[in-house]
Amino acid sequence: MKEKQMGIENIQKKEELEETLCLQNERYNLIKEINQEFVKLFHQGSDVDDSLNHTLERIGKQYALRFVAVLEYGGEKKERTWTNCWSLEKGILTDSGLKHGCSPQLLLPENGTYGQPYCQGREGLFRGSEECSLLFCGREETGEWTDFEKETLQELARMISFLVALRNHKKEEQRQIMDLKRRDPLTGLYMGEAFKSKVKEELKNWREDRDYAIIYTDINDFSYINDNFGYAAGNAILKAFADLIRESENKISCRLYSDLFVTFFWDTDRDTILQKIVNTSLAFSKRQKEIYPSCNIRLTTGIYFMEEKDENLAIAIENANLTRKSIKGNASAFCRVYESKMRIRREEEKQVLAEFQGTLKEGGFQVYVQPKFYLSGFEISGGEALVRWRKKDGRIESPSLFIPILERSGYVVELDFYVYEQVLAYMQSWLEAGKEPPVISVNFSRSHFEREGIYRRIMSLTKAYRIEPRYIEIEITESLFATGYELVKAEMKQLREAGFRVAIDDFGTGYSSLGMLLDIPADIVKIDRSFLNRENHENEKEFIQHMGKLIESVKEEVIFEGIETEEQREFLVDCGFRFGQGFLFDPPMPIQVFQEKYMK
Ligand code: C2E
Ligand code: MG
Ligand code: MG
Repeated sequence: MKEKQMGIENIQKKEELEETLCLQNERYNLIKEINQEFVKLFHQGSDVDDSLNHTLERIGKQYALRFVAVLEYGGEKKERTWTNCWSLEKGILTDSGLKHGCSPQLLLPENGTYGQPYCQGREGLFRGSEECSLLFCGREETGEWTDFEKETLQELARMISFLVALRNHKKEEQRQIMDLKRRDPLTGLYMGEAFKSKVKEELKNWREDRDYAIIYTDINDFSYINDNFGYAAGNAILKAFADLIRESENKISCRLYSDLFVTFFWDTDRDTILQKIVNTSLAFSKRQKEIYPSCNIRLTTGIYFMEEKDENLAIAIENANLTRKSIKGNASAFCRVYESKMRIRREEEKQVLAEFQGTLKEGGFQVYVQPKFYLSGFEISGGEALVRWRKKDGRIESPSLFIPILERSGYVVELDFYVYEQVLAYMQSWLEAGKEPPVISVNFSRSHFEREGIYRRIMSLTKAYRIEPRYIEIEITESLFATGYELVKAEMKQLREAGFRVAIDDFGTGYSSLGMLLDIPADIVKIDRSFLNRENHENEKEFIQHMGKLIESVKEEVIFEGIETEEQREFLVDCGFRFGQGFLFDPPMPIQVFQEKYMK
């Protein structure tokens, strides 16, 4: 009897064992199958995330679940986020679906620790790893979970967490590759677009107790370095600057192109930021001086402090750039902080540039002429063409408001030739009417010499209007010679050889010496009006007299600009000077008025 009883128990145990083995086999097969499906999807080229989502779907269908979701514990604060989800109702949810409130609304236990599944009714949360859990919710009709099912789901949670780790690893790898692609190969700094997106990310961490700056830097006379020391030297300097930036903390930097660098920089306060910028700038110049003792390699830096986190980054960068440009050519300044009036100026500049072409076509630029006089007899000796902008509302705008802007953009080249053609056309009509025209001078901006020069175009226009060059005077500002322009000198020489008269305008405002004047091929020197303003001082009078005489000894003609009073005229006549221009004689007037008054 006892033996029989034992036999039955053994059979029962055997059956139980077989059943367990069978179930375990089933679980093993299921996991294997799911795994294989994942690998297959993955090898077919699906994205890891995609394969993961399909795996969730597969589990959901297998267990008749309402949804399956992955919960990750990521970031510094170990925040819990839904990263993947499949639901019977909505299918696979994308990132945005998850972010926009479609995530499973379940009460999550705080103590869902690894290896201890939380399972209540048909809901469950299984921790697959330290970083990841699998959450599921079953359908009511499938009844209570068996222990075996729970164990299988726990196994699946482990498998899923492995897949999640793989997905995250891949993402990180891709991020690093992307990061490399977004960097400038020479300096290793970010390139423009990558820089902007990095800064936008960082701006999300904006803190009120910090100050944030956009710093726009370039290396002075970089093309000079390339031309004289070669590209390898230029590259080494760019790298050296990038290395120097890298040494500082709290920054994101980029090389836009060539020698233009932009850095987003933050620190406790503005003074600290400024101090660091100055230190970097000085350290850079010092290091370069050791390598190139004969050069002063310096940085020019424009700084813009951001006011708020949502500020338009492109405008902030432009503001810093504007500030940098505002100190270009200023030998004593190497960095400056943006002021709002720079933006107003910038807006005005944009307006001028936007309206320029239209105004030129519609004849909105008007040629005025200011007569030049013999100082002694109030007799006209010639005239100077000066441009005016007639605005739509009838206002007449002075060239000081738009010529500098047009010079910076290069548009002034077109304007100068427009003025020149107008003068030629009037001269032609005077000649055709049998009148002897006075010599008229035309101003040619420095911008011409940054391009191809003026000689050829002046020659062909003058020929086209059949005007003899002796009626034309070309005015070129003295400041052009401060840095020794060989091209300008060569062009002036050609013009003179062709019969034009060439004048150096605004003499005394640049830094050219009398010695230099000897070297400049010009017939006329126009002494800037700022000289006459100093004439009240006795020794200044003497200086003007001596300087004028010295110039007269080397050049054919000296003209004093800006004569406003009879006293000034008498003084110049007493000194023996012959020519002048100024409001005392006549102000600039429309060329038609000049014609009526002086060409009768
Ligand atoms: P600039 O060539 O030295 O011209 C002389 C300037 O002095 C003119 O100013 C003239 O109106 C002004 N002026 C003449 N007499 C007196 C006087 O007695 N007192 C005072 N205070 N000023 C006097 P404007 O016409 O405003 O022109 C300013 C500058 O703009 C010119 O200086 C020239 O550099 C530039 N400019 C004018 N027209 C042109 C042009 O067509 N092309 C280029 N590139 N520059 C031009
Ligand atoms: Mg002039
Ligand atoms: Mg002048």
